[in-house]
This record gives sequence, C-alpha cells and structure tokens, in this order.
Amino acid sequence: MTARRIDGQEVARARHQDIARRSQAVTKARGRPPCLAALSIGDDHAWRVYQRRQRRLCGQLGLNYHDASLPADCPQDQLLAAIDQLNADEAIDGIIIQAPLPAGCATDVIQERLCPIKDVEGINPANLGLVVAGRDGFAPCTARAAWTLAQAAATDVRGMEAVVVGASVIVGRPVAQLLLAAEATVSVCHIATRDLAFHTRRADLLVVAVGKAGLITADMVRPGAIVIDVGINRIVDAAGQAQTVGDVDPGVWEVAGALTPVPGGVGSLTTTILVENTVAAAERR
Ligand code: NAD
Repeated sequence: MTARRIDGQEVARARHQDIARRSQAVTKARGRPPCLAALSIGDDHAWRVYQRRQRRLCGQLGLNYHDASLPADCPQDQLLAAIDQLNADEAIDGIIIQAPLPAGCATDVIQERLCPIKDVEGINPANLGLVVAGRDGFAPCTARAAWTLAQAAATDVRGMEAVVVGASVIVGRPVAQLLLAAEATVSVCHIATRDLAFHTRRADLLVVAVGKAGLITADMVRPGAIVIDVGINRIVDAAGQAQTVGDVDPGVWEVAGALTPVPGGVGSLTTTILVENTVAAAERR
C-alpha cells in the first residue's frame, strides 16, 4: 500500500476564498479591513521568513498587517508595555508574538498578558481553557492545522481510536482536546509512555508532535491508518545534504492509508489558520 498524500497547501488554498469573503464583509461593515499585528523582537531569520509569509497572505486575502518591532535585548517590562498598547489599539484585531522570547522574559507572563480575544495564535491559557470546555476559543494554530488535516483525511473521526504522540501545551494537548470534542477515543503519549508502539499500533488516527526524526517507524503503524506528522526536524542526510523531515520514518508511506508530508503538510496550513483566526477575531469584536 502507498499512503495517500494529505496536501497541506491544497487544504490551505481551499480555505482562502472563504477567508477573503469574510474579510471583505468585515471591511464593509466596519470601514476598515481586519488587522494582524506582529510583535517582533530583534532580528531572527526564521521569524522574518515566517513574517513574510504572514504579510503576503494578509495582503492576498484583504487584511492589514502591522509590524511592531522591539530591540533584541528588550526587558520584560518593555515587552509587556508593547503588548498592552496593541491590546488597547482599536485598529488591531489579532496579535502574534515572535518566539522564542528574549532571555529574562517569562513565557507564561507574556502569554497571559495577551488579550484573549486578540490571541489569534492561541497561546493564552484562557483560550486553551475554552478549547477544553468545547467552546469557541482560539486553539494554537499548529494544533488547529493538524486537526483540520485529520478532518480532510477522515470522513468522520467520531468513535475512532486516536493516538496523539507529544503532550506539549502548544500542540499535543490542544490536538487531543479537538479530537475529544469530535468524540474520538483519545490516548496521549509522551516521553514517559512505557510502550509507545503498543499505543500507536492501535490508532486509526495517529498524530505525532515530538521533534524526533524517524521516531515512528512502519511497524508502529496500523495498516491503513491516517497519520498526521507535525514534527519539523533539520537533519543532514547520508549525502551530506541538509533536509527538513518530520517525526515519521519514510517507510510509513508503505503502511499508512494517508499521511501528511514534511514539508508540505501541517506547516503549510498554519499561516492560513492564523489569518483565518484574525478574521474571526474581527468578526467577534
Ligand atoms: P515540545 O518539545 O514542547 O514537546 C514534545 C513532546 O514530545 C513532549 O510532550 C514530550 O514528552 C514528547 N516526547 C519527547 N520524546 C518522546 C518520545 N521518545 N516518545 C514519545 N513522546 C516523546 O515540542 P512541540 O513544541 O510540541 O513541537 C513538537 C514538534 O512539532 C517539533 O518538531 C516542532 O518543530 C514541531 N512544530 C511544528 C509546527 C508546524 O507548524 N508544523 C509548529 C510547532 C511545532
């Protein structure tokens, strides 16, 4: 068997028309487009690449994009003051903060300062709480992207055996909650799980978000399972070439029923989810 490729770019493109239509409706009703603000700290290359994608997609779908920049060595008070300013700014609907934060800034303090209704990246625990309660909170974009691709591959996840490998607050836990809300039977595995393969082999739907290349091998996957690979790992292959790979070994293509590629899977959808959340935040306000 060769698994069907779940194409993140294709799923993202299919959502763009609807996001643009909703953005236009907000613009008409409010006299200005929805606006995403990015809070940048210093000059990080990976962040600038991600920002270019955010700016391009906002432009393409009719949103404004605002860049607020702080110096690399900014103290926590200055970062909190910048967040307060964006929280209070009537012209801003959504806020994303560059990660990782500068040394000396407490992640939980920063995340909690972000106004939940503008937290389109879903990092404030208040939003995670709403997701746990099955209500309309912003789930972290990567978790939402993984869930969206699972939905694209499965006709109905209700009653499915779903196994999530990885239990971080930003990916594994919210994915598990989204699956639970859809009435899948959910197990969550992590570093202390005793027999990982025992769990993964039971999965009709397997979501892997760990950050270890090749962790999930073909013998750990039930034939025909849907596999969502969230991992992003930079490796050097046998030929000395740098490569980006997921957590799933390439041999899994021969066993799974459907699989997300890396790159081209979950990562291709996260910016679209971020922009979609910004439009949703503008609609709610
Ligand atoms: P994290 O380090 O915060 O969490 C990793 C989780 O994996 C932990 O719960 C840990 O217990 C578990 N784990 C570690 N080793 C394990 C093992 N051997 N067996 C089972 N569980 C194990 O990582 P994160 O922030 O959740 O990110 C996970 C992966 O997803 C990384 O590769 C990251 O780069 C990627 N990621 C991708 C996107 C995207 O847009 N595609 C966004 C964010 C993160």
